[in-house]
Amino acid sequence: MYWEQEIETIDRKSLAKLQASRLAATLEQAKRSSHYGGLFERTGLDTARIRSAADVEMLPLTTKEDLREQWPYGFLACSRDELVRMHSSSGTTGRATVIFHTASDIAAWTDLLARSMYMTGMRRSDVFQNMMTYGLFTGGLGFHYGAEKIGALVIPAGAGNSKRQIQLMRDFDTSVIHIIPSYALHLSTVFTETGVDPRRDTRLKIAFLGAEPHSEKMRLKIEEFYGFKGFNSYGLSEMNGPGVAFECPEQQGMHIWEDNYIVEIIDPETGKPLPDGQEGELVLTTLRREGMPILRYRTKDLTRILPGPCPCGRTHRRIERIKGRTDDMMILKGVNIFPIQIEKKLMEIPGVGTNFQIILDREGYNDSLTVKVEIKGEFFGGDLRELEALRRRVVEELRSDILITPHVDLVEPDSLPKSEGKAVRVIDNRKE
Ligand code: AMP
Ligand code: ZN
Repeated sequence: MYWEQEIETIDRKSLAKLQASRLAATLEQAKRSSHYGGLFERTGLDTARIRSAADVEMLPLTTKEDLREQWPYGFLACSRDELVRMHSSSGTTGRATVIFHTASDIAAWTDLLARSMYMTGMRRSDVFQNMMTYGLFTGGLGFHYGAEKIGALVIPAGAGNSKRQIQLMRDFDTSVIHIIPSYALHLSTVFTETGVDPRRDTRLKIAFLGAEPHSEKMRLKIEEFYGFKGFNSYGLSEMNGPGVAFECPEQQGMHIWEDNYIVEIIDPETGKPLPDGQEGELVLTTLRREGMPILRYRTKDLTRILPGPCPCGRTHRRIERIKGRTDDMMILKGVNIFPIQIEKKLMEIPGVGTNFQIILDREGYNDSLTVKVEIKGEFFGGDLRELEALRRRVVEELRSDILITPHVDLVEPDSLPKSEGKAVRVIDNRKE
């Protein structure tokens, strides 16, 4: 029932000790990076004073902006020769943050995923179809290695190509899948169209659902259609990727693996730690990373720690399903998009005015992104062919940056609502 019983059911006192010793090692390691080394020196921070997980409050918080500023190697805490892998967040290449791993980092991460998957009931006899994008994103190789460690047969299907996915499931008796929830919904329509009933015609029994926010209602809908159990899987590339927190068979919140991460919930406004049970921003410190340790990372994800022990016997605390974000990052088809990316691209195109609006919709089961763009006065009322060429150019420029093809509507100058103060750029109409 446990991948590693001793560590999964460790008593809280022993866990605190383990965290303290791993934190000390992490701080020593972090000092070697130019970012933390410089920061500790500038601020005169004596890391020897940090003796337990509770003391992390003395450390500064780390943000995505810090990672970007130090791009690409400022957080590196070992020699480049020791690195074996690079990954990045699911944004686009220009803005994405990169994470480097040594062989032991990969081993620790792989172990977390094996532990997480095993917890849901996956075994070596299973056939695992990984329907996530491989490559720089973490959901492909991360799960792939974990599943191989369990000893399951892995089908590295990658994302998309729905008919082929269904064929693979049928031909090779796939029993476990990893899939983005919105894609699971979309795929259900392809199942229906092709007359294949997943309950009758496949052996699916477990799914890992992650990479984007989804509600309990959406999970139930997916489980109902496919006839499998869907387990919520949470992670972010800066903290390795998937395998940070994962649901157990109780399906009541996700165990966050505290032997690998120190967990804090802070008030996003003041940065002050909040007591267990209160909702706030999740902040994480890596405890087992040598290539690129990150201290007190602001995930910008909103959640809370669920009170009380879990009936499954695991002692690692649980976080609730992610409620939202503290910033304006949108996640569409599992890809992170910031409105500023769209703004920057638009402003580079002659003919485009200064105001725009982003509208997210769910058409059937497909998420879509529409950008309404005001055009400059001199363009308006001009040649229709020119306008269409401009529209196409906007679509193309945006697609190349955000990796998703948007609908683009060109609108009259001054026709979009103007807001005072912070512009409301995004309207999210996606509902289940
Ligand atoms: P990336 O760094 O590209 O892997 O994106 C990580 C972000 O995806 C997280 O910070 C979350 O905002 C979001 N995310 C990942 N898994 C989940 C999940 N299970 N539920 C809600 N949001 C998630
Ligand atoms: Zn549990």
